[in-house]
Amino acid sequence: MSPQTAEILAATQRILPEIVGVRRHLHRNPELSGSERETAALVANHLTAWGLEKIQVGVGGHGVTGILGNSLDGPMLALRADMDALPIQETGGLPYQSCKAGVMHACGHDGHTATLLGAAHVLSEMREFLPRPIKFLFQPAEETIGGAEGMIAAGVLENVESIVALHGWPNLEIGQIGIRSGPMMASADTFDLTVRGSGGHAAYPHTTVDPIVTASHIVQALQTISSREISPLDSVVVTVTQFHAGTAYNVIPGTAELKGTVRGLNNTVRDEIQARMERIVAGVCAAFRADYTLTYERGTPVVVNDATVITRIEAAGADVLGAENVTYLETPTMGAEDFAFYLEKIPGAMFRLGVGTEVTALHTPTYNFSDGALPHGIALLARLALP
Ligand SMILES: [Zn+2]
Ligand SMILES: [Zn+2]
Repeated sequence: MSPQTAEILAATQRILPEIVGVRRHLHRNPELSGSERETAALVANHLTAWGLEKIQVGVGGHGVTGILGNSLDGPMLALRADMDALPIQETGGLPYQSCKAGVMHACGHDGHTATLLGAAHVLSEMREFLPRPIKFLFQPAEETIGGAEGMIAAGVLENVESIVALHGWPNLEIGQIGIRSGPMMASADTFDLTVRGSGGHAAYPHTTVDPIVTASHIVQALQTISSREISPLDSVVVTVTQFHAGTAYNVIPGTAELKGTVRGLNNTVRDEIQARMERIVAGVCAAFRADYTLTYERGTPVVVNDATVITRIEAAGADVLGAENVTYLETPTMGAEDFAFYLEKIPGAMFRLGVGTEVTALHTPTYNFSDGALPHGIALLARLALP
């Protein structure tokens, strides 16, 4: 362990009670995507108190940024945390359970925000040792996608050479991290399809164009995108998640609606799927005399981690946690994360921070980011900032 790491760990222990308090306060007062007013104000107040410079609020929505450095010139490393909560009713019965009905930090963004605040606090006491300025990005609206794009449009990546973020991970022990270079999380797009036939009496199907039968063929045919059109070595998911049609036992409806998600781990393959889907839908509808409207909404790109940045995280992780606690992830996940938008612009990486295996899954009503994971995340982010 380097002397600097020892200093970071000591500083982390000193500030930890305050940061645990911040995390629990945020957990108790969650705010939905796009409404992170109080969270942003709390973040900005702390950054001001610790003497960060060039603090900006209202960045791409409720985003907050601040810089720390020996000098503020030159290429920066950015550290990013997301701040928003989810529309889920919390049921875990924590003493600091959400005080807002139907809103909770079920993805642990309270923990991400607190961890990054902790790193800012530690580094504010060591700023003369920073080899390059560090930019802290507190991002709104991750869950609804758009927060990252808004901050990028506001110019937060100016003069930033690389970017790092973490996500609390329930299948990993506290004190461990999971890293992977290359694709780490999937792209996620959505589609809305309306199939228009011509309704009528269920007893006389030959006088109608049945949109339910047509749409059923479309559901089947769309599965051939991943099974017959994309290489088996490229992972793609086309999932129809909604199928709405009809109002009675004896009426063939005029329309059927399908909605769903498209996921992938390769941005080039992703770009082809929309056209493949359009071709299949048009072909099936033509075969059954139906008409259609297809809206394909591009969501997040693939999270592709940069190998050099991952090497730096690996080294920092080994120094702070011990090499045995840095796990190399064999496979990516088909979950998505809007951190991908930053990685389209500059090199960077997201890593997983263990929150313990006894914690329930992300996006469930009993999820709770473990306070025990905070010091590891804080020390690791601070270590990355120092030489
Ligand atoms: Zn989430
Ligand atoms: Zn999340």
